[in-house]
Amino acid sequence: MVRYVYAFTEGGRDMAGLLGGKGANLAEMTRMDLPVPAGFTVTTEACRTFLTTGDEPDGLAREIATHLTALEEAAGRRLGQADDPLLLSVRSGARFSMPGMMETILDIGLNDDSVLGLAKVSGSERFAWDSYRRLVQMFGSTVMGVDSALFEDAMARLKDARGARDDLGLDAPDLAQLVETYKELIRRETGESFPRSPAEQLRRAVLAVFASWNGARAHLYRRREHIPDDLGTAVNVQTMVFGNLGPDSGSGVAFTRDPATGRTGLYGDYLSHAQGEDVVAGIRNTVPLTDLEHLDPASYTQLQEHMRTLETHYRDLCDIEFTIERGRLWMLQTRVGKRTAAAAFAIAAELADEGLITPDEVLARVSGEGLARLMFPRFDTSAVGEALAHGLPASPGAAVGAAVFDSAEAVRRAAAGQKVVLVRQETTPDDLPGMVAAQAVLTSRGGKTSHAAVVARGMGKVCVCGAEEITVDPQGRRFTVGDTTVEEGTVISVDGSEGAVHPGAAPLVDSAVMRYFETGTVSGGLVEAVARAMRRADAVRRLGVRANADTPEDAARARRFGAEGIGLCRTEHMFLGDRRQLVEAMILARTDAERRRALDALLPLQRQDFVGILEAMDGLPVTIRLLDPPLHEFLPDRTELAVRLAAAQAQGTPPAAHDAELLDAVNRMHEENPMLGLRGVRLGLVAPGLVAMQVRAIAEAVVARRRAGGDPRAEIMVPLIDTVEELRLVREEVERVLGEVSQESGVPVTCPVGTMIELPRAALTAGRIAEEARFFSFGTNDLTQTTWGFSRDDVEAEFFSAYLDKGIFKVSPLETIDRDGVGRLVEIAVAEGRTARPDLKIGVCGEHGGDPESVHFFHAAGLDYVSCSPFRVPVARLEAGRAAL
Ligand code: PEP
Ligand code: MG
Repeated sequence: MVRYVYAFTEGGRDMAGLLGGKGANLAEMTRMDLPVPAGFTVTTEACRTFLTTGDEPDGLAREIATHLTALEEAAGRRLGQADDPLLLSVRSGARFSMPGMMETILDIGLNDDSVLGLAKVSGSERFAWDSYRRLVQMFGSTVMGVDSALFEDAMARLKDARGARDDLGLDAPDLAQLVETYKELIRRETGESFPRSPAEQLRRAVLAVFASWNGARAHLYRRREHIPDDLGTAVNVQTMVFGNLGPDSGSGVAFTRDPATGRTGLYGDYLSHAQGEDVVAGIRNTVPLTDLEHLDPASYTQLQEHMRTLETHYRDLCDIEFTIERGRLWMLQTRVGKRTAAAAFAIAAELADEGLITPDEVLARVSGEGLARLMFPRFDTSAVGEALAHGLPASPGAAVGAAVFDSAEAVRRAAAGQKVVLVRQETTPDDLPGMVAAQAVLTSRGGKTSHAAVVARGMGKVCVCGAEEITVDPQGRRFTVGDTTVEEGTVISVDGSEGAVHPGAAPLVDSAVMRYFETGTVSGGLVEAVARAMRRADAVRRLGVRANADTPEDAARARRFGAEGIGLCRTEHMFLGDRRQLVEAMILARTDAERRRALDALLPLQRQDFVGILEAMDGLPVTIRLLDPPLHEFLPDRTELAVRLAAAQAQGTPPAAHDAELLDAVNRMHEENPMLGLRGVRLGLVAPGLVAMQVRAIAEAVVARRRAGGDPRAEIMVPLIDTVEELRLVREEVERVLGEVSQESGVPVTCPVGTMIELPRAALTAGRIAEEARFFSFGTNDLTQTTWGFSRDDVEAEFFSAYLDKGIFKVSPLETIDRDGVGRLVEIAVAEGRTARPDLKIGVCGEHGGDPESVHFFHAAGLDYVSCSPFRVPVARLEAGRAAL
């Protein structure tokens, strides 16, 4: 037999799935002998049955009646008894806290008769009528569906008529009149009367709370918090205690520590002569909890004791709701309280000091996401006003600067010492210098894996992308949002953590945690707490953590942040800037000799890059990936070039010979789907001399570092392979060049050759590929793109939001690894790769390598390391530690 109702004396905190968080904790407090008003909980299972069938579950009414009788017997009075009514509250309580999202109905059991009895036994007519009008109001709006504003208007009109400032200005006859007005309102709006029968009130209240699970507010909240839609809510039915009985009564909320900073000591608010709902509704001004010490010293002392008991019992920050009824303290709710990221670290460290939790529990209670938030400067939230526009929070942090609309202007102004924000419709590799120069990047198009987002995250630069409300006008050097125009040079503030743009310079607060990672300086309790958690994570984690870095500066920073090598050095970034000319010359070369010359000119530049990176990562592995993107990305834009040529023709001036040649090359190389075209290993196999030049640069850099007394550990990685044959051909070429350089220099150079696994075919044939590869690195950006069949550059802003709305995915698979699909390919490749080569080293270097949830997956999948942007390295270390718990 299914059981739908549990008395508080029967439950416990480990029953949150069935009794909801609130019900489980009320039961726990009851067991702990804390003063909890008696009651019972209707299970989430009853709710689920109601939601699927649309009917009250069979037997529920009987179970409720039995528990009600027990309550009545213990109290010595019946629900709604005319001369001395037992009154009940009915509150929602889901498995995961959804504050204020569902319904509450208080004072169940009052009607035209029992209100008089309540007045008599309480000795306060005003209190009785105030309670009654609360019931009619809550029942009318929640259960009967009357617009709550109508009740509020009626109350406001009466207060005006009486000249009352707040609800305390209304006396008993006023409130009695208000009850009549409310009842009339209900009749008018619903055609039904407010039910007099206490049993019917209770029954309908319980069902209304069930139904509120599917209310629009609750639905939206669950979507945002990733709470499943099918859990349902429990309903708690509890004997009423009254904070509105007079000045010696009241209600409050309290925390066992400060949830903002983690500091010890009681924090909270108290409102005398009020019910709990009034405290949060802000109808009158609350006082700090510490004032209770003077208002009611006995209750205050008791409260302190109970909170200490709770914190020791739960071994964590607790928040509570309480009511004092004529000097008697009642505990109405407790739970492990929500807290800021800073408080999470500080509290965990203190509880460990107090011996309440172990170092591993400290790790379990903090998070990489929280750490990421603490690493960036942020805007002083108390000082920023309404946002100008919103976009996607693509790269966290806060930055202030003058808006500029192209890369060159960003570079020019930055060189003159000005802080700038680069505003583009979307960015391309051409914008790189401007992005480097800017404090932040703002785009009106593109998702969280658009060029702007990926590159900005890599550089630890603030980025808001896909801010669709803004219209960027690069020619006019301005952007507009509705009626507001922001001209070039106007200062704006970009909040990459929240995805918001503010006008003007919002005040900034610096990050001590970032200073710690940059310099090792431990200043203050928060940083000490973070450092402790990091030490523990490093001690327990199995996964290595490397960085994606392509410059010596990034490599050095990554090392300071704790990276144990480079998992991905993208060599394409070294083909930009001044070197573009040389790349162009290589592409346009008509003879072998011309191509050779261009490659020879690129060689020393590449070598120099590698020397710098190998030096910064001396003694640690540096995985260098051969050129990946299609060559035409290094040529000018096709349309721009065609327009330039046409304009020259129209003006009768002869077009630059170079331009015509370029357009020819661009046309020749044009691809409809460049992401699926001549890139990665394919490029290396058809562009003569390219692989040899890159490998030579790497090998000569290794020789140079060895001669300088260093310990260079370069690894060569081949991108985008489909089949083992591709890898075999490239590996043979690599070995040949390494042999040549060894011979020429007299320094033996060996570099392990491995491959990226970023196409489904590669994952599915990993066993064969492992015969030629010393290591695998999953390129989960491309692997996600090709497994799902969508373009990582285009989709996010467009259909992803619709997909998220429809619940097709809970989070973008480009952000968090899709375990079922892409994850399965990873598992297959790991298993087959290791069978073929047991010592195969396996890592991941897609964006997922720095995503907390994905790190847990990679740990479970048995990878050796994750690689992510330098700024995510501490996050990955922490999460790798948490994954190992
Ligand atoms: C990937 O595809 O996951 C990867 C790391 O390579 P890129 O992002 O450079 O394509
Ligand atoms: Mg890739």
